[in-house]
Amino acid sequence: MTTAVVVGSGPNGLAAAIQLARAGVEVHVIEGADKIGGGTRSSEYIVDRLIHDDCSAFHPTALASPFFRELDRDFSLADHGLTWLWPEIDLVHPLDDGTAGVLWRDINRTAEGLGVDGKKWLSVFGYLSENFDELVQDVFQPIVHLPKHPLMLARFGSGALLPATGFARLFKTPQARALFGGVAAHMFGSLNAPLSSAVGLMLGAGAHAHGWPVAQGGSGSIATALASILRSLGGTIETGNWVTNYSQLAGYDIVMLDLAPDAAARLLDGRQPDRIARAYRKYRYGPAAYKVDYAVRGDSDGSVVPWTNPHARKAGTLHLAGTMPEIAAIERRSVRGQMPGKPFILLGQQFLADPSRSVGDIHPVWSYAHVPHGYSGDVTESITRQIERFAPGFRDRIVGTHVRSVPQMEAYNPNYVGGDISAGANTARQIIARPRFGLNPYATGVPGVFLCSSATPPGGGVHGMGGYNAARAALKSRN
Ligand SMILES: Cc1cc2nc3c(=O)[nH]c(=O)nc-3n(C[C@H](O)[C@H](O)[C@H](O)COP(=O)(O)OP(=O)(O)OC[C@H]3O[C@@H](n4cnc5c(N)ncnc54)[C@H](O)[C@@H]3O)c2cc1C
Repeated sequence: MTTAVVVGSGPNGLAAAIQLARAGVEVHVIEGADKIGGGTRSSEYIVDRLIHDDCSAFHPTALASPFFRELDRDFSLADHGLTWLWPEIDLVHPLDDGTAGVLWRDINRTAEGLGVDGKKWLSVFGYLSENFDELVQDVFQPIVHLPKHPLMLARFGSGALLPATGFARLFKTPQARALFGGVAAHMFGSLNAPLSSAVGLMLGAGAHAHGWPVAQGGSGSIATALASILRSLGGTIETGNWVTNYSQLAGYDIVMLDLAPDAAARLLDGRQPDRIARAYRKYRYGPAAYKVDYAVRGDSDGSVVPWTNPHARKAGTLHLAGTMPEIAAIERRSVRGQMPGKPFILLGQQFLADPSRSVGDIHPVWSYAHVPHGYSGDVTESITRQIERFAPGFRDRIVGTHVRSVPQMEAYNPNYVGGDISAGANTARQIIARPRFGLNPYATGVPGVFLCSSATPPGGGVHGMGGYNAARAALKSRN
């Protein structure tokens, strides 16, 4: 029987393990941390039974992912403990005057709220969201592949190629421009760069196609469900064992690495062809995330965070940064290694969709700021101030906080090099060729050894497609 070992139990590692096990391979997963899941773990940091997502919170890419869809069809994710829940509003981007860009799952409702920009919003996102599941069949593949839907891909590509700052100018109002810009900023890069509209288009279209759902009971349910399916296929998982030496992987026919490229190169220690080892060493990492989780006491009027904008009180996600020019300036600074005074904040109110995460009138509020790569300073107060800017009085409702600074982020998961949670800078070059140019980006150059982390196509996010594609490449290499 063919045997495989997977190093790392993030969603891509577990996806690779499941795909191999489904093909009849005997699979063992080795995880360094004490808890499985990588970027899909949840914890009770501050108050017992108050559930915070350690990393990922909202999962449009999982719903669209061919890997997750196949699993749901064949195994029923709900039977393995994974149920998706949706907030009433996917996303709100508040501005200083109390208005906001509001993204509903219903595209017509979104367009209505955007006034004169409604028609343009429909023309940008209507076609993409209606055809989203076909689009991901191509976008979730390596750049060099025979497209299944070439016309659709070309239509997506013509917009995606533009800098997000230029794309936002298609809209007239500050609300629509900021709404698009905030979604584009998920790429963690310069919004003036070519291809910086790609993430905004994908996540915006994904919001209208599938919404931005949370996992009931916390994102840890995603890892638990994947592990449960893997075990049902005979796979095994061990935790608390950091793989630091290639000899730990001896004897397996297939080795899958859910690792950052430089860690993979260190582990492979001279076994790779020079050209590939060099590409792994030269691979660039991007800006970092600084995370603050809050425990917040709700008010007797039913509000939790006292947002000025009423829609914000119903939104799963908020982007806190102000107007599109402000967002672009903030992101430019953090890419250049300068800490912005008012950072870009992503804030999550997952408890609105999933009340089981709260304890009485205490609710978990999730947030992180975009900060420069490797930044070692304390950003907690800047994050709280940025929330106060749009929700005066928030500070008085805080019961407790849990902070994960940039150095702590890297210590928590070595794949977050310098605090980069995308496993690699989203530069135009690395969006196209991740982690290197080549027909098979999953191959490490060592026979039988494959990279399957989000440093491979299609990049960051909980979709499992790096692992799914890498496992298919591994199986093909044995035929
Ligand atoms: C703060 C934050 C917010 C995010 N928000 C979202 C979101 O809302 N939606 C979304 O889709 N995505 C989000 N993400 C991104 C998402 O979590 C990642 O893209 C995804 O988890 C990547 O999966 P992966 O399997 O490639 O790697 P990871 O999830 O990073 O898993 C890698 C695993 O390998 C283990 N490992 C590393 N080195 C070794 C070793 N030497 N030996 C053994 N084990 C090792 C690690 O401990 C880890 O468990 C967020 C991430 C963070 C940090």
